[in-house]
This record gives sequence, C-alpha cells and structure tokens, in this order.
Amino acid sequence: MPFKLVVFDLDFTIWNAGGTWCDHTTPPYRRVNNHICDSQGSVISIYPEVKEILNQLQGNYELAVASRTHRSDWALELMQLFRIMDFFDHLEIYPGSKVAHFRRLHHITRIEFSEMIFFDDEIRNVDEVSELGVKSVLVREGITNEILNRSL
Ligand SMILES: [Mg+2]
Repeated sequence: MPFKLVVFDLDFTIWNAGGTWCDHTTPPYRRVNNHICDSQGSVISIYPEVKEILNQLQGNYELAVASRTHRSDWALELMQLFRIMDFFDHLEIYPGSKVAHFRRLHHITRIEFSEMIFFDDEIRNVDEVSELGVKSVLVREGITNEILNRSL
C-alpha cells in the first residue's frame, strides 16, 4: 500500500531540545547560528537530515506532526525558528495518547490508517499507533534518510 501521509513526532525525532523535551526548556528562545538557545543557554538542535527529508517528501505526500508536548506554543515557536512550519499540512500538538492524534488526522484527511506512516522515538507511541494499523517506525535519535528510505 503506497503511503499518502507521513507523520513525525517532534522531540528526539525532528529536534533535540538540549537532551530533554521542548516542554522542559526555558523560553524565550534565540537563534545562534544554526541552533536555537533557550534563556538558560541550552542548545536546541534540529537533526541534520530533517530539512532535506522534508524537502524530498513535500509534494509527494501530505505531511503532519503528531506531538504530545504540553507546550504546543513553544513547539510551534521552535518550528518557526527552524523554518520547517511550511512543510506541514497538519499539526496535531497536544498531550495524551497519540491514538487521538491519529484519529483526528484520519477524520481531517480521510486518509486510511494503512496509508499513513509514522516516525517516533518512543516505543509507547509506536506501539499504540501501530494498533490502529499505521506503519509506525521507531527512531533512535532523529529521523534520517536511511530510516526513511528503508521504511517507505
Ligand atoms: Mg519524541
């Protein structure tokens, strides 16, 4: 089944928020070269292959974020600062089981779960979303071209 929708987690899939989750950082954020720093000097980095991956996928797939962060406002600001917001067609960013995020994505897009693929670094999310019938891929630290191409 060819996929129509590619869905990404944020923390430890798209970026590393200084070794923690973005809702544990301390805004305000500021840009320092290619990184973002929070007010305590923690460095928040986007994984090196993310923009290339999003560029490749854009136009061929619908793209979405599914994040259970408690600070959607901070997550959205980081997406803006990393200049990746425009790649995504759908943003589901709120706490709770990602089953809710995927039910909502199905409701909005009418895309079947079997036509979705999902990348996340947490086994609990991968397990729960797999149960819906979404191909769910565990990433260790950041999405890479190798993981993507092996999974699509
Ligand atoms: Mg994560």
